[in-house]
Amino acid sequence: MNGNFTKLRGMKDILPDEIELWQRVEKAFIEVCEIFGFKEIRTPILENKYLFVRGIGATSDIVMKEMYEFKDKKGREIALRPEGTASVVRAYIENKVYITKKIARFYYYGPMFRYDRPQKGRYRQFYQFGVETFGGKHPFFDGEIVQILDISLKKIGIENFVFIVNSLGCRICKNKYVEQIKKNLQEKIDKFCEDCKIRIEKNPLRVFDCKNTFCKENLKEVPSILNYLCDDCKNHFDTFVNFLLKFNINFSINSNLVRGLDYYTRTVFEVSTEKDDIAIAGGGRYDNLVEEMGGPDIPAVGFAAGIDRIVQFIKKEDKEEKKPVYFILLGNNAKLKGLEILKECIKEKIMVEVDYEERSLSDNLRIANKIGVKWCLILGDNEIEKGIMILKNMKDGYQIEVNEKEIIKKLKEITKC
Ligand code: AMP
Repeated sequence: MNGNFTKLRGMKDILPDEIELWQRVEKAFIEVCEIFGFKEIRTPILENKYLFVRGIGATSDIVMKEMYEFKDKKGREIALRPEGTASVVRAYIENKVYITKKIARFYYYGPMFRYDRPQKGRYRQFYQFGVETFGGKHPFFDGEIVQILDISLKKIGIENFVFIVNSLGCRICKNKYVEQIKKNLQEKIDKFCEDCKIRIEKNPLRVFDCKNTFCKENLKEVPSILNYLCDDCKNHFDTFVNFLLKFNINFSINSNLVRGLDYYTRTVFEVSTEKDDIAIAGGGRYDNLVEEMGGPDIPAVGFAAGIDRIVQFIKKEDKEEKKPVYFILLGNNAKLKGLEILKECIKEKIMVEVDYEERSLSDNLRIANKIGVKWCLILGDNEIEKGIMILKNMKDGYQIEVNEKEIIKKLKEITKC
């Protein structure tokens, strides 16, 4: 080990230059969620590995190939969360939220981890903003979260995106359909890739997630799941679709959309950009998961949006960035006096940047120029003696002397606080 550390594969640093974009996206989602009465929930990043095996499904790609798992010092099997829903469901059950809240609406935000092959827009640590609604069977609950996603993405400035929607039916419809396509796919199993051959036997719906073009081609003649829906599921889907029409949400129905996680029932949806077909969010209903994970029989619906991908599509705003006043404190006395002014600035929310190192005035001015600040406050022994401070405008070099008693008022004026 030579000490030259670099970040792990598939991980990335988000530096201050870029962070404004991330904060804008996060803020937009939070604002919209709060309007709709969703409350934030924060769950641990580490969970018992079997929470995800049970929640997401033992045959899903995430559990089979992509989980970061390890044993802790006591030999417990731990995983870094690969997605948010299983943890939120666990927290919902463990804290018995259902006792006090008939309908519980949550949103969450944070890093997720998947040991996938990194490429553009696919990382091993990535960020998701998600929502989960518990307790609502009505299809308008499905519509509501789609609407939240639609409003948020528009607010963020994403253009030309489309919701791909489908229904997987309830447990009964889904099982009937799975049996049927298993038979269909088994008949031509040789035409599928090695992974799909296993999928056909273990979990045929997963074949729809395969990226291989020849596997996709083979699926063209497979019957549509929409023809296998019972009356209740059909009604649910129609009502959901009507909701989307009512709110002018741009969508199209694709009966091959199954989503990569096993827990979905009835509504599933994905959002992708129309131009380059990049998935930026996905979600759906999971009416059995709460019960399957040891809770009561409570329906639920949710989505997760990929913030790394969303950030790619937006640009920095042109608005002028607020710059700090750069304090140049020459000598020990000035540094001590500077601290008093600093204390007042914090109280008045005046943005300040100080370099406490001992440097010459010219070095300090050079640094201030590099940072691109508009104003410097200069204080040395001379100024302290006279009871003044100098404010220098870095754009035109113009400078003024301000009585130290007036300095906070003047700083507020020039920084418009
Ligand atoms: P999922 O949890 O798989 O339903 O994914 C929901 C959204 O999270 C996707 O539409 C992507 O935008 C995003 N996402 C999923 N996996 C990754 C990844 N490895 N890197 C970046 N974003 C991801």
